[in-house]
Amino acid sequence: MNKKTIEDIEVNGKKVLVRCDFNVPQDENGNITDDRRIEAALPTIKYLLDNNAKVILCSHLGRPKGEFNMKYSLAPVAKRLSELLGFEVKLAKDVVGEDAQKLAGEVEEGKAILLENVRFHAEEEKNDAEFSKKLASLAEIYVNDAFGTAHRAHASTAGVADYLPAVAGYLIGKEIEIIGNALNNPQRPFVAILGGKKVSDKIGVIENLIDKADTIIIAGGMTYTFLKAQGYSVGNSICEEDKLELALSLMEKAKQKGIKLLFPVDTVCGTEFSNEADVCTVKSTEIPDNWEGLDIGPESSKLFIEELKAAKTVMWNGPVGVSEFEKFANGTIAIANCLAEIDAITIIGGGDSAAAIEKFGLADKMTHISTGGGASLEYIEGKLLPGIECLNNK
Ligand code: AMP
Repeated sequence: MNKKTIEDIEVNGKKVLVRCDFNVPQDENGNITDDRRIEAALPTIKYLLDNNAKVILCSHLGRPKGEFNMKYSLAPVAKRLSELLGFEVKLAKDVVGEDAQKLAGEVEEGKAILLENVRFHAEEEKNDAEFSKKLASLAEIYVNDAFGTAHRAHASTAGVADYLPAVAGYLIGKEIEIIGNALNNPQRPFVAILGGKKVSDKIGVIENLIDKADTIIIAGGMTYTFLKAQGYSVGNSICEEDKLELALSLMEKAKQKGIKLLFPVDTVCGTEFSNEADVCTVKSTEIPDNWEGLDIGPESSKLFIEELKAAKTVMWNGPVGVSEFEKFANGTIAIANCLAEIDAITIIGGGDSAAAIEKFGLADKMTHISTGGGASLEYIEGKLLPGIECLNNK
């Protein structure tokens, strides 16, 4: 990475503003149901504490839409951080107001405080210069470690870097190194599995991977747009009629580049989008009227697993079926189990495929599970991420 990191700057005794992604899921009583995002921020926070920095943490949580709304308070995060760090991480009552200024002014070396939810101010998402300046005035150094929001140009993810020396934390460093290496210098064969709902969400990803991967497996809801484009009927399956031409042009481009594009050969169909649906398994080219394709069939799993077993690098983004429904989760389970077993670099994009891997208890068998769904997709598309671009070059 050509960006400076926390190890490239003197933090001893300095006030350091750290943008984390503490956007953790909570139950209806505000209890954190999954604290992985907090855990993922710990290496950076601990490095700063061990090096006597005065740490000022900030993050967004949910969508409070620019207003103070205690439903989206970071109080549960402050509590969890206090448990993990072994001292009280005080939570400021505001973001850049009197209380934030007071706590940021008083924070001791080797200790951390947390500002309230940056999205309590509409200026955050507008990347407002005055708001960025106010945030910056709380500290002497800015560290961005929020990979999950690195694709957003907001005040706390990018704007603040205009006013402070700005460096990357370990999490951003790790994401960029692992995903970047796989894209730019992969151990081959490099196989990408793209599932999920729509082709339109993944066009950029497919285009960029056609230049980089050896094989692209297209599965999930995207399949049917490609099948329809080739003239097959897809019943009630999800299909983007306005992307048929595009699907054909992507296939043509892959052919020209000598990239193998693999599609499911069989499909598990349901009578409705529900776990209660009646089910049948058919050839992918013979989906009957009134049925919709909701998972890959066993022959497809076998075909894809053969390909994956020979791979040295695998990138997976998007479930290959509606894995939320038990009846249509078999394909996703088969792919996940295969990735857990193969001797390859396995990278799981954030979002639904990461959630599936977690649900199946296979997370520790993967090389890397990205903490950013949207951010990792944009990075794989080859886009520049504002939260990374804003950091100082080495
Ligand atoms: P994405 O956010 O694009 O990765 O899409 C994830 C969603 O795609 C999941 O909620 C899956 O239920 C959905 N999905 C996967 N396969 C299908 C399918 N065959 N038909 C409809 N939705 C699907």
